[in-house]
Amino acid sequence: MKRVAVLGSTGSIGRQAVEVIRANSGSLVVHSLVCNRNVDLLAAQSREFPGAVCGVLDPAASVPAGFLQGAGVTEEAVEGCDIVLNAFTGFAGLRASLLAARLEIPLALANKESLVTGGCLLADHIRKGLLSPVDSEHSTIARCLAGEAVRPLSVTLTASGGALRDLPLSSLADASPGMVLAHPTWSMGPRITVDSATLVNKAFEVIEARWLFPDLPVDAVLHPQSIVHSFVRLADGSWKALTGSPDMRVPIQYALLGGSGEPGLSMSDGPLDWPSLTFGRIDPARYPAYSIVIAAGELGGAAPVAANAADEVAVEAFLAGRIGFGRIPEVIENALGKTGAAPVSSYGDVLRADEEARARSRAFLGERC
Ligand code: MG
Repeated sequence: MKRVAVLGSTGSIGRQAVEVIRANSGSLVVHSLVCNRNVDLLAAQSREFPGAVCGVLDPAASVPAGFLQGAGVTEEAVEGCDIVLNAFTGFAGLRASLLAARLEIPLALANKESLVTGGCLLADHIRKGLLSPVDSEHSTIARCLAGEAVRPLSVTLTASGGALRDLPLSSLADASPGMVLAHPTWSMGPRITVDSATLVNKAFEVIEARWLFPDLPVDAVLHPQSIVHSFVRLADGSWKALTGSPDMRVPIQYALLGGSGEPGLSMSDGPLDWPSLTFGRIDPARYPAYSIVIAAGELGGAAPVAANAADEVAVEAFLAGRIGFGRIPEVIENALGKTGAAPVSSYGDVLRADEEARARSRAFLGERC
Protein backbone atom coordinates (compact mmCIF):
# COMPACT_ATOMS: atom_id res chain seq x y z
CA MET A 1 0.00 0.00 0.00
CA LYS A 2 1.28 3.43 -0.94
CA ARG A 3 0.45 6.13 1.63
CA VAL A 4 -0.41 9.40 -0.12
CA ALA A 5 -0.14 12.87 1.43
CA VAL A 6 -2.74 14.92 -0.47
CA LEU A 7 -1.72 18.56 -0.25
CA GLY A 8 -4.50 20.82 -1.49
CA SER A 9 -7.10 18.08 -1.05
CA THR A 10 -10.15 20.36 -1.41
CA GLY A 11 -9.14 21.94 -4.73
CA SER A 12 -9.94 20.63 -8.19
CA ILE A 13 -6.88 18.31 -8.45
CA GLY A 14 -7.06 17.31 -4.78
CA ARG A 15 -10.70 16.22 -5.04
CA GLN A 16 -9.95 14.18 -8.15
CA ALA A 17 -6.90 12.66 -6.41
CA VAL A 18 -9.12 11.54 -3.53
CA GLU A 19 -11.41 9.92 -6.09
CA VAL A 20 -8.42 8.14 -7.70
CA ILE A 21 -7.21 6.87 -4.29
CA ARG A 22 -10.73 5.65 -3.47
CA ALA A 23 -10.84 3.73 -6.76
CA ASN A 24 -7.40 2.18 -6.11
CA SER A 25 -8.04 1.13 -2.52
CA GLY A 26 -6.00 -2.05 -3.07
CA SER A 27 -2.81 -0.12 -3.70
CA LEU A 28 -3.28 3.49 -2.50
CA VAL A 29 -4.36 4.88 0.85
CA VAL A 30 -4.84 8.46 2.09
CA HIS A 31 -2.10 9.25 4.59
CA SER A 32 -2.97 12.91 5.09
CA LEU A 33 -5.21 15.67 3.77
CA VAL A 34 -4.22 19.33 3.84
CA CYS A 35 -6.23 22.30 2.63
CA ASN A 36 -5.92 26.04 2.80
CA ARG A 37 -9.26 26.95 4.39
CA ASN A 38 -12.13 24.82 3.01
CA VAL A 39 -12.70 23.20 6.41
CA ASP A 40 -16.18 21.83 5.60
CA LEU A 41 -14.97 19.78 2.67
CA LEU A 42 -11.88 18.65 4.57
CA ALA A 43 -14.09 17.47 7.42
CA ALA A 44 -16.20 15.46 4.94
CA GLN A 45 -13.04 13.94 3.44
CA SER A 46 -11.73 13.08 6.91
CA ARG A 47 -14.93 11.18 7.70
CA GLU A 48 -14.27 8.99 4.68
CA PHE A 49 -10.62 8.40 5.66
CA PRO A 50 -10.75 8.37 9.47
CA GLY A 51 -7.08 7.39 9.89
CA ALA A 52 -5.77 10.34 7.87
CA VAL A 53 -3.86 13.26 9.39
CA CYS A 54 -5.88 16.41 8.57
CA GLY A 55 -4.45 19.91 8.44
CA VAL A 56 -5.63 23.43 7.62
CA LEU A 57 -3.03 26.02 6.60
CA ASP A 58 -5.09 29.13 7.39
CA PRO A 59 -4.37 30.04 11.03
CA ALA A 60 -7.62 32.04 11.21
CA ALA A 61 -9.96 29.22 10.11
CA SER A 62 -12.17 27.58 12.70
CA VAL A 63 -11.26 23.86 12.70
CA PRO A 64 -12.69 20.75 14.40
CA ALA A 65 -10.83 19.09 17.27
CA GLY A 66 -8.04 16.80 16.10
CA PHE A 67 -7.19 18.84 12.99
CA LEU A 68 -3.73 20.37 12.71
CA GLN A 69 -3.56 24.04 11.87
CA GLY A 70 -1.06 26.67 10.75
CA ALA A 71 2.00 27.02 8.55
CA GLY A 72 3.78 23.94 9.96
CA VAL A 73 0.97 21.56 8.98
CA THR A 74 2.61 20.43 5.73
CA GLU A 75 5.71 19.11 7.54
CA GLU A 76 3.55 16.97 9.83
CA ALA A 77 1.33 15.82 6.97
CA VAL A 78 4.17 14.41 4.86
CA GLU A 79 5.86 12.62 7.77
CA GLY A 80 5.62 8.88 7.19
CA CYS A 81 4.00 9.07 3.75
CA ASP A 82 5.27 7.22 0.66
CA ILE A 83 4.35 9.87 -1.91
CA VAL A 84 3.41 13.55 -1.75
CA LEU A 85 0.76 14.83 -4.14
CA ASN A 86 1.39 18.56 -4.28
CA ALA A 87 -1.80 20.18 -5.53
CA PHE A 88 -1.35 23.47 -3.70
CA THR A 89 -2.19 26.53 -5.78
CA GLY A 90 0.37 29.09 -6.85
CA PHE A 91 3.83 30.03 -5.66
CA ALA A 92 3.04 28.92 -2.10
CA GLY A 93 3.28 25.32 -3.37
CA LEU A 94 7.04 25.55 -3.90
CA ARG A 95 7.76 25.11 -0.19
CA ALA A 96 6.01 21.74 -0.12
CA SER A 97 7.91 20.53 -3.21
CA LEU A 98 11.22 21.51 -1.63
CA LEU A 99 10.20 19.70 1.54
CA ALA A 100 9.56 16.48 -0.42
CA ALA A 101 12.91 16.92 -2.17
CA ARG A 102 14.75 17.49 1.10
CA LEU A 103 13.19 14.36 2.61
CA GLU A 104 13.74 12.42 -0.66
CA ILE A 105 10.04 11.49 -0.82
CA PRO A 106 8.56 10.78 -4.28
CA LEU A 107 6.62 13.82 -5.45
CA ALA A 108 3.58 13.78 -7.73
CA LEU A 109 3.62 17.39 -8.81
CA ALA A 110 0.49 19.26 -9.82
CA ASN A 111 1.83 22.63 -8.66
CA LYS A 112 3.52 23.97 -11.77
CA GLU A 113 4.81 27.09 -10.03
CA SER A 114 7.26 24.78 -8.22
CA LEU A 115 9.18 24.10 -11.43
CA VAL A 116 8.61 27.52 -13.00
CA THR A 117 10.06 29.35 -10.01
CA GLY A 118 12.25 26.74 -8.31
CA GLY A 119 13.21 24.33 -11.10
CA CYS A 120 16.91 24.58 -10.27
CA LEU A 121 16.16 23.60 -6.66
CA LEU A 122 14.25 20.49 -7.79
CA ALA A 123 16.65 19.35 -10.53
CA ASP A 124 18.29 16.75 -8.26
CA HIS A 125 14.92 15.28 -7.29
CA ILE A 126 14.10 14.98 -11.00
CA ARG A 127 17.48 13.36 -11.75
CA LYS A 128 16.84 10.80 -9.02
CA GLY A 129 13.56 9.86 -10.73
CA LEU A 130 11.53 11.03 -7.74
CA LEU A 131 9.30 13.57 -9.48
CA SER A 132 6.22 12.53 -11.49
CA PRO A 133 4.35 15.31 -13.26
CA VAL A 134 0.60 15.63 -12.72
CA ASP A 135 -0.02 17.78 -15.74
CA SER A 136 -1.63 16.12 -18.74
CA GLU A 137 1.09 17.26 -21.16
CA HIS A 138 4.09 16.27 -19.06
CA SER A 139 2.45 13.05 -17.94
CA THR A 140 1.93 12.24 -21.62
CA ILE A 141 5.58 12.89 -22.44
CA ALA A 142 6.70 10.75 -19.49
CA ARG A 143 4.43 7.94 -20.70
CA CYS A 144 5.68 8.23 -24.27
CA LEU A 145 9.28 8.05 -23.08
CA ALA A 146 8.73 5.18 -20.61
CA GLY A 147 10.24 2.02 -22.08
CA GLU A 148 10.96 3.68 -25.43
CA ALA A 149 14.18 2.37 -26.94
CA VAL A 150 14.44 4.93 -29.75
CA ARG A 151 16.17 8.21 -28.91
CA PRO A 152 13.74 11.14 -28.43
CA LEU A 153 14.56 14.32 -30.38
CA SER A 154 12.02 16.89 -29.16
CA VAL A 155 8.68 17.36 -27.45
CA THR A 156 5.64 19.35 -28.55
CA LEU A 157 3.03 20.38 -26.00
CA THR A 158 -0.58 20.87 -27.08
CA ALA A 159 -2.59 23.92 -25.99
CA SER A 160 -6.36 24.22 -26.12
CA GLY A 161 -6.13 27.97 -26.62
CA GLY A 162 -8.47 28.66 -23.71
CA ALA A 163 -11.95 30.11 -23.57
CA LEU A 164 -11.29 33.16 -25.78
CA ARG A 165 -9.59 31.49 -28.71
CA ASP A 166 -12.45 32.26 -31.12
CA LEU A 167 -13.31 35.73 -29.81
CA PRO A 168 -12.57 38.55 -32.30
CA LEU A 169 -9.19 40.12 -31.48
CA SER A 170 -10.87 43.53 -31.05
CA SER A 171 -13.04 42.25 -28.16
CA LEU A 172 -10.25 40.40 -26.35
CA ALA A 173 -9.07 43.24 -24.10
CA ASP A 174 -12.53 43.62 -22.53
CA ALA A 175 -13.37 39.95 -21.96
CA SER A 176 -15.06 39.41 -18.59
CA PRO A 177 -14.00 36.88 -15.91
CA GLY A 178 -17.19 34.92 -16.67
CA MET A 179 -16.18 34.51 -20.32
CA VAL A 180 -12.60 33.55 -19.43
CA LEU A 181 -13.63 30.99 -16.81
CA ALA A 182 -15.81 29.04 -19.25
CA HIS A 183 -13.00 26.74 -20.41
CA PRO A 184 -14.09 24.75 -23.46
CA THR A 185 -12.42 21.41 -22.67
CA TRP A 186 -10.76 21.20 -19.23
CA SER A 187 -12.39 21.67 -15.83
CA MET A 188 -9.80 23.34 -13.57
CA GLY A 189 -9.31 25.93 -10.85
CA PRO A 190 -9.85 29.66 -11.62
CA ARG A 191 -6.24 30.81 -11.91
CA ILE A 192 -5.16 28.09 -14.32
CA THR A 193 -8.29 28.70 -16.38
CA VAL A 194 -7.37 32.37 -16.80
CA ASP A 195 -3.77 31.29 -17.52
CA SER A 196 -5.14 29.03 -20.25
CA ALA A 197 -6.89 31.96 -21.92
CA THR A 198 -3.67 34.04 -21.94
CA LEU A 199 -1.53 30.94 -22.72
CA VAL A 200 0.65 31.88 -19.74
CA ASN A 201 -0.19 28.37 -18.56
CA LYS A 202 1.35 26.91 -21.72
CA ALA A 203 4.46 29.08 -21.42
CA PHE A 204 4.82 27.83 -17.81
CA GLU A 205 4.44 24.28 -19.09
CA VAL A 206 7.23 24.84 -21.62
CA ILE A 207 9.46 25.99 -18.73
CA GLU A 208 8.36 22.95 -16.67
CA ALA A 209 9.12 20.61 -19.57
CA ARG A 210 12.63 22.03 -19.88
CA TRP A 211 13.32 21.03 -16.27
CA LEU A 212 11.62 17.65 -16.56
CA PHE A 213 13.17 16.69 -19.91
CA PRO A 214 16.37 18.76 -19.92
CA ASP A 215 17.92 17.27 -23.06
CA LEU A 216 14.96 17.89 -25.34
CA PRO A 217 13.88 21.02 -27.24
CA VAL A 218 10.28 21.97 -26.36
CA ASP A 219 7.64 23.82 -28.35
CA ALA A 220 3.85 24.08 -28.35
CA VAL A 221 1.01 23.88 -30.85
CA LEU A 222 -2.67 24.81 -30.63
CA HIS A 223 -5.07 21.89 -30.47
CA PRO A 224 -8.53 23.16 -29.49
CA GLN A 225 -10.09 19.75 -28.74
CA SER A 226 -7.53 18.71 -26.05
CA ILE A 227 -7.64 15.10 -27.23
CA VAL A 228 -3.97 14.73 -28.20
CA HIS A 229 -2.11 15.48 -24.97
CA SER A 230 1.35 16.22 -26.49
CA PHE A 231 3.89 14.57 -28.78
CA VAL A 232 7.41 13.21 -28.61
CA ARG A 233 9.44 13.13 -31.83
CA LEU A 234 11.74 10.11 -32.07
CA ALA A 235 14.97 9.61 -33.99
CA ASP A 236 13.47 6.90 -36.21
CA GLY A 237 11.12 9.39 -37.83
CA SER A 238 8.06 8.59 -35.73
CA TRP A 239 6.00 10.85 -33.50
CA LYS A 240 4.53 9.34 -30.40
CA ALA A 241 1.45 10.81 -28.74
CA LEU A 242 -1.09 9.96 -26.10
CA THR A 243 -4.71 10.68 -26.90
CA GLY A 244 -7.82 10.54 -24.79
CA SER A 245 -10.58 12.59 -23.19
CA PRO A 246 -9.40 15.63 -21.24
CA ASP A 247 -9.67 14.20 -17.73
CA MET A 248 -7.13 15.05 -15.02
CA ARG A 249 -7.81 11.80 -13.20
CA VAL A 250 -5.75 10.04 -15.89
CA PRO A 251 -2.43 11.83 -15.15
CA ILE A 252 -3.18 11.81 -11.39
CA GLN A 253 -3.67 8.05 -11.42
CA TYR A 254 -0.57 7.48 -13.57
CA ALA A 255 1.60 9.58 -11.24
CA LEU A 256 0.29 7.95 -8.05
CA LEU A 257 0.56 4.39 -9.33
CA GLY A 258 3.93 5.05 -10.92
CA GLY A 259 2.82 3.50 -14.18
CA SER A 260 2.65 0.02 -12.62
CA GLY A 261 -0.29 -2.24 -11.88
CA GLU A 262 -3.81 -2.26 -13.23
CA PRO A 263 -5.47 1.14 -12.60
CA GLY A 264 -8.56 0.93 -10.41
CA LEU A 265 -10.30 3.87 -12.05
CA SER A 266 -11.37 2.94 -15.53
CA MET A 267 -12.73 5.66 -17.75
CA SER A 268 -14.52 4.94 -20.94
CA ASP A 269 -16.73 7.64 -22.29
CA GLY A 270 -17.22 6.34 -25.78
CA PRO A 271 -15.27 6.78 -29.00
CA LEU A 272 -13.19 9.90 -29.62
CA ASP A 273 -14.42 12.36 -32.22
CA TRP A 274 -11.47 11.84 -34.57
CA PRO A 275 -12.72 13.88 -37.55
CA SER A 276 -12.97 17.00 -35.37
CA LEU A 277 -9.27 17.10 -34.44
CA THR A 278 -7.42 20.21 -35.60
CA PHE A 279 -4.03 21.83 -34.95
CA GLY A 280 -2.76 25.35 -35.48
CA ARG A 281 0.01 27.80 -34.74
CA ILE A 282 0.00 30.02 -31.65
CA ASP A 283 -0.88 33.54 -32.84
CA PRO A 284 1.33 36.09 -31.00
CA ALA A 285 -1.27 38.85 -31.54
CA ARG A 286 -3.90 36.83 -29.67
CA TYR A 287 -1.53 35.54 -26.99
CA PRO A 288 1.05 38.28 -26.26
CA ALA A 289 1.70 36.99 -22.73
CA TYR A 290 2.84 33.63 -24.13
CA SER A 291 5.95 35.05 -25.82
CA ILE A 292 6.71 37.29 -22.83
CA VAL A 293 6.75 34.34 -20.42
CA ILE A 294 8.65 32.09 -22.86
CA ALA A 295 11.35 34.77 -23.08
CA ALA A 296 11.45 34.96 -19.26
CA GLY A 297 11.97 31.20 -19.14
CA GLU A 298 14.86 31.46 -21.59
CA LEU A 299 16.46 34.19 -19.49
CA GLY A 300 16.17 31.97 -16.42
CA GLY A 301 17.19 32.95 -12.89
CA ALA A 302 14.75 35.41 -11.31
CA ALA A 303 12.90 36.14 -14.58
CA PRO A 304 10.42 33.22 -14.49
CA VAL A 305 9.91 33.84 -10.75
CA ALA A 306 8.94 37.44 -11.54
CA ALA A 307 6.73 36.34 -14.44
CA ASN A 308 4.83 33.99 -12.15
CA ALA A 309 4.47 36.54 -9.33
CA ALA A 310 3.26 39.26 -11.70
CA ASP A 311 0.81 36.84 -13.32
CA GLU A 312 -0.63 35.82 -9.92
CA VAL A 313 -1.16 39.50 -9.03
CA ALA A 314 -2.64 40.29 -12.45
CA VAL A 315 -5.00 37.29 -12.49
CA GLU A 316 -6.21 38.08 -8.98
CA ALA A 317 -6.88 41.70 -10.01
CA PHE A 318 -8.65 40.54 -13.18
CA LEU A 319 -10.87 38.03 -11.33
CA ALA A 320 -11.78 40.71 -8.79
CA GLY A 321 -12.80 43.04 -11.62
CA ARG A 322 -10.05 45.58 -10.93
CA ILE A 323 -8.31 45.29 -14.32
CA GLY A 324 -9.33 44.25 -17.82
CA PHE A 325 -8.17 41.00 -19.42
CA GLY A 326 -5.99 42.97 -21.86
CA ARG A 327 -3.79 44.32 -19.06
CA ILE A 328 -2.48 40.95 -17.85
CA PRO A 329 0.48 40.82 -20.31
CA GLU A 330 1.35 44.43 -19.46
CA VAL A 331 1.68 43.60 -15.76
CA ILE A 332 4.00 40.67 -16.50
CA GLU A 333 6.12 42.71 -18.90
CA ASN A 334 6.48 45.49 -16.33
CA ALA A 335 7.72 43.08 -13.65
CA LEU A 336 10.22 41.51 -16.03
CA GLY A 337 11.56 44.79 -17.32
CA LYS A 338 12.93 45.57 -13.90
CA THR A 339 14.00 42.08 -12.84
CA GLY A 340 16.50 40.85 -15.40
CA ALA A 341 17.95 37.40 -14.97
CA ALA A 342 19.46 37.75 -11.49
CA PRO A 343 20.77 34.30 -10.50
CA VAL A 344 18.66 32.14 -8.21
CA SER A 345 20.32 29.41 -6.19
CA SER A 346 18.32 29.10 -2.96
CA TYR A 347 14.76 29.28 -1.69
CA GLY A 348 15.64 32.66 -0.16
CA ASP A 349 16.63 34.00 -3.60
CA VAL A 350 13.35 32.78 -5.09
CA LEU A 351 11.34 34.24 -2.24
CA ARG A 352 13.02 37.64 -2.60
CA ALA A 353 12.49 37.72 -6.37
CA ASP A 354 8.86 36.73 -5.86
CA GLU A 355 8.19 39.41 -3.24
CA GLU A 356 9.87 42.14 -5.28
CA ALA A 357 7.91 41.28 -8.41
CA ARG A 358 4.63 41.15 -6.48
CA ALA A 359 5.30 44.56 -4.92
CA ARG A 360 6.26 46.04 -8.31
CA SER A 361 3.17 44.60 -9.95
CA ARG A 362 0.85 45.92 -7.24
CA ALA A 363 2.48 49.35 -7.47
CA PHE A 364 2.12 49.24 -11.27
CA LEU A 365 -1.60 48.58 -10.85
CA GLY A 366 -1.86 51.38 -8.32
CA GLU A 367 -2.76 48.94 -5.55
CA ARG A 368 -1.57 49.13 -1.99
CA CYS A 369 1.23 46.67 -1.19
MG1 MG B 1 -1.50 21.14 -18.61
